[in-house]
Amino acid sequence: MAKKQFKAESKRLLDLMVNSIYTHREIFLRELISNASDAIDKLYYHALTGGDTGLNRDDFFIAIEPDAAGRRLVIRDNGCGMTREELENNLGVIAKSGSLAFKQEQPGNENIDIIGQFGVGFYSAFMVSSTVEVVSRAYGSEEAWKWTSSGADGYTVEPCQKEDGHGTTITLTIKENTEEDRYDEFLDPMYLRQLVKKYSDYIRYPIRMPMPKHRLKEGTENEFEDVTEVETLNSMVPIWRKSASEVTQEELDSFYREKFMDYEPPMRTIRSSTEGTATYQALLFIPAHTPYGYYTKDYEKGLQLYASGVLIMERCADLLPDYFSFVKGLVDSQDLSLNISREMLQHDRQLKLIAGRLEKKIQSELKSMLANDRETYEKFWKNFGLQLKYGAYSDYGAHKELLQDLLLFASSQEEGGLTTLAEYAGRMKEGQKYIYYACAENAERASHLPQTEVLRDQGYEILYLSDDIDEFALKMMRDYGDKEFRSVSDSDLGVEDDAKQEELKKASEEHKDLLEEMQKALEGKVAEVKLSGRLKSHPVCLSTEGALSLEMEKVLNAMPGDSPVKAKLVMELNAGHPVFDTLCRLMASEEGRKKVDIYAQLLYQQALLIEGMPLEDPVEFSNQICQLMQED
Ligand code: ADP
Ligand code: MG
Repeated sequence: MAKKQFKAESKRLLDLMVNSIYTHREIFLRELISNASDAIDKLYYHALTGGDTGLNRDDFFIAIEPDAAGRRLVIRDNGCGMTREELENNLGVIAKSGSLAFKQEQPGNENIDIIGQFGVGFYSAFMVSSTVEVVSRAYGSEEAWKWTSSGADGYTVEPCQKEDGHGTTITLTIKENTEEDRYDEFLDPMYLRQLVKKYSDYIRYPIRMPMPKHRLKEGTENEFEDVTEVETLNSMVPIWRKSASEVTQEELDSFYREKFMDYEPPMRTIRSSTEGTATYQALLFIPAHTPYGYYTKDYEKGLQLYASGVLIMERCADLLPDYFSFVKGLVDSQDLSLNISREMLQHDRQLKLIAGRLEKKIQSELKSMLANDRETYEKFWKNFGLQLKYGAYSDYGAHKELLQDLLLFASSQEEGGLTTLAEYAGRMKEGQKYIYYACAENAERASHLPQTEVLRDQGYEILYLSDDIDEFALKMMRDYGDKEFRSVSDSDLGVEDDAKQEELKKASEEHKDLLEEMQKALEGKVAEVKLSGRLKSHPVCLSTEGALSLEMEKVLNAMPGDSPVKAKLVMELNAGHPVFDTLCRLMASEEGRKKVDIYAQLLYQQALLIEGMPLEDPVEFSNQICQLMQED
């Protein structure tokens, strides 16, 4: 019989496809099962619309039959089958999808749930087969046809017998193993079952396979026998397709644990689905703990992506923004085609739409958790808060609006507890210009910073920041509402009244010599020594001028690479402190001035220690203190 050539463009496409569209050969099974499922859908649809009552939904099935000895794998369905013309048209021309045509022919077609529409899936069979044989009998027809091909060199179509009724039987002759590739596994029932579970678990018709079993012989106690038993491999109804009233939280929890391999149930389950511009169901989970390796670059974010119940991507990163990378789960959409490649997905409009919806949904769920279940939210915050803060900082603060009300901070007002920015704003004093914050290793230390004392005394609330990213995030966000964030170490806190300013100015004039002497002693270390308006019980503190704070200097310099940065430091003295009186007294004699130089060093080093900065020369510092102790 004359061999027919594939259409020229098909030939090239076939080559291309077999070698590049699919990254995993194993998906051929998914493709053939999806086609079988589509074929059953079509027949069932006809039966429904044509009033043909002879067909019963329960009679439909898909069978997989491996034959290791014969190196054959059969995939069989009792769907609509194909006529001779359909065989030629659908399998002879790549990228021609009978399913798409079918969909377009039906009135109100957007509701038909058929997977195929791209017209290349079938050819994935050639990734694992040396020969593909398709025997098909169209529903209602008496004749059957056999289509055979060994790849790009063409195909034959001939009449044949098919006794078991309508439908399609595809027989793959599995390739021989080569040095690099093993194909045997596609004949192994255990492996095939695994593939069905992974990719086709939610196909709505039973997928059956004879499974070899080793079991106790009936009526005996220790005699075993090898038998085969037909097993249904797929669970058929995806849990995310069931309505909320049909599934219990317990079922969702165990689904999550099994699927995402977690030992704990999720902290929160989020369900989202829409119809319209983008039809999808999403089932999302927030883990109850930080996944292993979460804050490392090895962690891969992403959601499982299904097209009409068939897994097409294990981890689709484009569905989740980085700041919600902790979310696990899946999305099932009827608008995506099965055969879409990774690169194409990235530009897929539907996918972008879905991602946008999910982002808003996750945000609003977190918000409602914060409002209604503060305790759980604080646990969540402990696990993933850092990621949200990175989000607020990233992309030049572009996600500020989305994230700012999800942030929590330790604060001077909430002993041991956390506050939102909205709560802080609600407690602000009349006329308060800024939202204050103090940075240190932890909240406890921040609360002891000398710079915080006067602010707290005057009743201003201070946020205590302790993560490296914190100050960077606040600087990137700039403000909340119309209130700017301001560090307690900033040279201008906006709280000093005019009288106090005047007083400081006068005192500074009076002690000009002392301040100049000390500044000289600290040449190259601080830009200025001045009298402070913010100190109460401490003699000294450091503040900064310009955009770079001491905390930021510390963080930036701890990063590898870049050349060191230096904050512009100001040393502030408390004129009301006894130490200051000593300094003034010492200024009177030549001998005393030398001491002032040493005291300047000591005060500077103390201030560094309080800020949690390393001493420039600890031995020198220790020597100077010893010297003081000997003088007594
Ligand atoms: P797609 O599924 O994207 O349409 P395929 O290459 O997977 O593309 O299949 C091409 C066409 O062949 C299908 O659209 C369908 O019309 C037909 N077809 C494939 N497998 C079967 C089958 N088991 N039963 C009936 N028709 C089939
Ligand atoms: Mg297909």
